[in-house]
Amino acid sequence: MQYISLYRKYRPQNFKEVVGQEIIKKILQNSIKNNKINHAYIFSGPRGTGKTSIAKIFAKAVNCFDNKDGDTCGECDFCKNANHNELDIIEIDAASNNGVEEIREIRNNVKLMPASGKYKVYIIDEVHMLSTSAFNALLKTLEEPPEHVIFILATTEIHKIPETVLSRCQKFDFKNIPEKQIIERIKKILEIEQKNLPIEVIELIAKISNGGLRDAINLTDQIISINEDNITLDSVYNLIGSVPEETIFNLILAIKNKDIKKGLDLINELYKSGKNLTDITERMQLLIRDIVINNVTRKYFTKEYEEKLEQFDDIDSETSTHMATLLFELGNELKKTSNKKILFEIYFIKLVRLFTAEETNKKDIKEKIIQTQTNDINKEENIIEEPIDISYKKQRINNTLAEADKNLKVEFIKKFEEINDYISNKEYNVIANLLLKSTPEVVSTRNIIFIYKNNFEVVLFDKNIEELQKLINKVYNKKYDIVAINLEEWKKIKEKYINDMKNGIKYKYEDEKQIEKTKKTKTSQIEKTLESMFGDDIVTIK
Ligand SMILES: [Zn+2]
Repeated sequence: MQYISLYRKYRPQNFKEVVGQEIIKKILQNSIKNNKINHAYIFSGPRGTGKTSIAKIFAKAVNCFDNKDGDTCGECDFCKNANHNELDIIEIDAASNNGVEEIREIRNNVKLMPASGKYKVYIIDEVHMLSTSAFNALLKTLEEPPEHVIFILATTEIHKIPETVLSRCQKFDFKNIPEKQIIERIKKILEIEQKNLPIEVIELIAKISNGGLRDAINLTDQIISINEDNITLDSVYNLIGSVPEETIFNLILAIKNKDIKKGLDLINELYKSGKNLTDITERMQLLIRDIVINNVTRKYFTKEYEEKLEQFDDIDSETSTHMATLLFELGNELKKTSNKKILFEIYFIKLVRLFTAEETNKKDIKEKIIQTQTNDINKEENIIEEPIDISYKKQRINNTLAEADKNLKVEFIKKFEEINDYISNKEYNVIANLLLKSTPEVVSTRNIIFIYKNNFEVVLFDKNIEELQKLINKVYNKKYDIVAINLEEWKKIKEKYINDMKNGIKYKYEDEKQIEKTKKTKTSQIEKTLESMFGDDIVTIK
């Protein structure tokens, strides 16, 4: 027998079966009942909250020959006949068909009458993925839609939809489905399937699905197919390639105890065993949430879990709020970078800093980090994360200053805005974002110095320097050797430069490759790693 996934098997066939989104269902059903159908709808909201399911049901219900209270009857020729469905309900995935051609085809086809129903319904999923020209083509159709056509646009990112399109649609904002409703739905499915799962496992599924019912059902599907008698929380974590609960506890504990060495060791271990750092960040966020809840109210969790949370009782609400904010930031930043480990480490230190009291001996921390890094390097021959070589930086700064030209800088900055065009380009968006955060400070014919406020941006710059050069090459049609430093460093360099000028010391351009041959850079591995990770400002704890 062919296996049908639980999600497909239990996909709702009518409004009644849809979990959550009560108000949206009601409005849509009423509009069918009162025959007040719009020609364009936009469904926005998080993934797995029922946008496509409701779009499909609505498409069927408007065409149903015998609709009951605005819902599908399930009995008539339209409801039962899948062929009719296919001819009059057209689903387009904008994520795969983002071309103008597909939309143009719609424009030509909308004139055709529906095959058997009253309406031809176009469901465009992930509509934010359409290109600008495709949106324009769509807009033309939305401006004068034929009587028999309905568009349902679904998106997880409403802010990417042009206002001109939005203004022609009736908007529905889909909400996350409450954990309680997800739990009820899973219980119901398990009952029909005659399967059993411990309640804490079901609760965990609901929790990690983040209000998305589709994810929750898919996860349940995977878990029951393990076919074990004794399914525990950790079997869920294992399944999703996630780390056990204890690891997350240990990370937060290391932060609270300001145990940088232990934390960095743990991160290294997790990274080496291929664990997903984004997932770990989310789990840490969830734990912080639980800690906050447990601090203000008891008996919200099971007694067992409350006892585990007790070790965090001394984290006050202000600190936990800051922790949550940092973790949220980290989660966002992780999505944008391929240098996940280093970013995670930087944020780990930032989190520890929240707990570092003023009087903490700053030197002590620096020593601890050096020790950690030393251990790291001694322990493993095969470090996955190669420390980046930044020995070229000094030379490049010198070279830029040697040939600095104000007019070139003005010209360069004029065109800098064009980098904005690459923000929506998947290949370059991270790089473009990173570059736009910088200030081009010194420009010569072959070099540029970029300044950043935060050192971790400099770190990211150094790590992505080749990509950055490629982007600049594209925008300016010219190859530059570039270098980035943080503002503090730049102030010092600038001061020295001005002094040197006053004293008649001239800077000379020297070929980088030439220098490399003659001068063996002696920066030690540890210093390089440290500097590339944190810059020199690690000790300036604020
Ligand atoms: Zn029907």
